[in-house]
Amino acid sequence: QEKFINSTYVQQMCKITRGLYDHGWDERNGGNVSYRLTEDEISQYADTAKVLRNVPIDFDASELAGQYFLVTGTGRYFKNVIDNPEGDTGLVQIAADGHSVDIHWGYNDGAQPTSEFPSHLMTHINRMHIDSNQRVVMHCHPTNLIAMSFTLPLDEKTFSRILWKMQAESVVVFPEGLGVIPYMTPGTNDIGEATAKKMKDFRAVLWPHHGVFGAGDSMDETFGLIETIEKAALIYTTIQAQGGVCLQEITDDDLADLAHNFGLTPNPKFLTG
Ligand code: 13P
Ligand code: ZN
Repeated sequence: QEKFINSTYVQQMCKITRGLYDHGWDERNGGNVSYRLTEDEISQYADTAKVLRNVPIDFDASELAGQYFLVTGTGRYFKNVIDNPEGDTGLVQIAADGHSVDIHWGYNDGAQPTSEFPSHLMTHINRMHIDSNQRVVMHCHPTNLIAMSFTLPLDEKTFSRILWKMQAESVVVFPEGLGVIPYMTPGTNDIGEATAKKMKDFRAVLWPHHGVFGAGDSMDETFGLIETIEKAALIYTTIQAQGGVCLQEITDDDLADLAHNFGLTPNPKFLTG
């Protein structure tokens, strides 16, 4: 039987954390990733059956009791995960009462799940109800998108429309637009609740002056969603640096045509000016 460290799940985690670091979106210990795994997937491996440790979590995750998550550790540097996945990530199972997690693999030098675990788990709960294939939640600090949270009004319509209009891909990749919450203290249950509530309508939520939360079916899809949003934000930033005057643009009609061509319905609240 194979060891979990050689599983595709750990390998994907290594690749994606390195990718987030390489893009400059996860300085120091910035960012966190969680991947919901099934009992079936876990049971393929030789070293995931035993409970190594139990750690408390200070919110109620009982809706996820029994579920497994491969999740990055708090304080761990994404730069380094690729060389130390068994220390910097862990496989946890939510305990029956929802107030602690059983560690089945990893965190081998005493680590614990990310401080943003409330936001991750609450998001998983809501995204699961919408689509049971949604298994990945990703948080990172993309520079240009964060910068826009200082210079633009913090409303979903403004952000979504600007990002849609920066490139033809945007409306195709996130037709529902971008959710926005107010600035809130990181790592709290409150920001978890606010984020998860938005995740009922969006797969990406802006945390002003901090970063973004994304959800998706796979690591690649979730990374790609954030990548597309941040690329649009980079184009916006570059336009501002060139003086901010646009001589032509992607119009609302162009957006509607694009979406129609891909069989998608863009969020009607944002489509018309
Ligand atoms: P963690 O190191 O606890 O995952 O926190 C990083 C972060 O980005 C907080 O928002
Ligand atoms: Zn953060």
